[in-house]
Order: sequence, then C-alpha cells, then structure tokens
Amino acid sequence: MPVYDPNKNYNDAYWSLFCQNESILAKIEDISLSRDSYLKKILRIEEQYEHWHNNIGDNDDSDEYQKNLRKKHERRYAAEIAREYNCPYHGCEKMYGSEGSMNLHIKLKHKGGNKTDREKTAKHIVFCQSANLPICMAQLLVKINLPPGSIREASEQLQINLSEKTLDQLEAEVLKTNEAARLKQKKNELMKTQKYRQA
Ligand SMILES: [Zn+2]
Repeated sequence: MPVYDPNKNYNDAYWSLFCQNESILAKIEDISLSRDSYLKKILRIEEQYEHWHNNIGDNDDSDEYQKNLRKKHERRYAAEIAREYNCPYHGCEKMYGSEGSMNLHIKLKHKGGNKTDREKTAKHIVFCQSANLPICMAQLLVKINLPPGSIREASEQLQINLSEKTLDQLEAEVLKTNEAARLKQKKNELMKTQKYRQA
C-alpha cells in the first residue's frame, strides 16, 4: 500500500493521468479503426480467392482442362488446410484463414462486437454466477450477440469452475436472449418499413 505523501499534489496527478489515459484511448480507437479497414481488405481478398479457385476449370473444354482440374484440386486442398477458423454461430458454415478475418465476420454479420468486448461480457457473466450476483442477460447482450461456447471459454480463462449443468444453463440462456433480441430487432425493422410505406 503506497504511503500518503503530503508534498504531492494528488489532484494534479489525477488529472494528468486522466488526460494520458484519454489520449491513449483515442489512439487505441484510431488503431482499431485502421485495423478494421485492413481486415475488411483481407476478407475481400479471401472471398475473391475462394470465388476464383472454385471457378477454375469451369466452362473450359480446352486441352488445359485436365491440367486445370488437377490444379483446382490441389488449390482446394491447400485452401482447406489453411481455413481452420470456423464461425462459431449455429447454422453459419463460414471458415476463415485467420482469426482476424473471422472476428471481422463475427462483428459484421453476427453483431458480435469485437473479441475483447465478447470476452469481457462472457467473463462478467461467469464472475457474477460464481459470486451469486444477479445477471441481467438482456441488458448485457443488448449490443453483443455472444457466440455459443463463450461462457465455457470464459470460465476456463478465469479458471472459475462452474458445474456442467450451470454452464449448459448459462449457454442456453445466452442463446435464448440473443434470439429474443434478434426477433425484436426484426420486428422493429418491419415496423419501420411499414411506416415508410404508409407515409
Ligand atoms: Zn458466421
């Protein structure tokens, strides 16, 4: 525990730290924005690549056909081993070559926010559960659609042991809350378009 130093101006020190913190946060925001734009480029390249090697040899009757067929097979094989990050959401079969592009897909297509926010939310749920504190899922998951397995992962990361039954219950509750939020949003969008049509 640090000892109180009467010669130190704690108010100045506080504000100086506060300002430093604010400027670091602004820098982080900046870097994360440019990171997102790079990831978007990577995602586009990956999709282009997928499209390209799925179409090699199609509409091709020439002598090159057999050669292309073999190339196509080899490339597909190479792509299969490189794509080891599959999207964790139920019913989504997307696979990516890097964790970064998968995370971007989660953010854009599943409203999953970024990885840090997902981990923070899942850890919050695990911690509250272990400490017998109330958990307001609906509020926690307003902005974030947590993928299946998040709670289990968070409990492992925090090394907080919850029973299998509790983990299953929490995962089910997350799924239910996400689904309710999705339906609510769909309904809101529908109402908006109806209002727009009536106007
Ligand atoms: Zn997905």
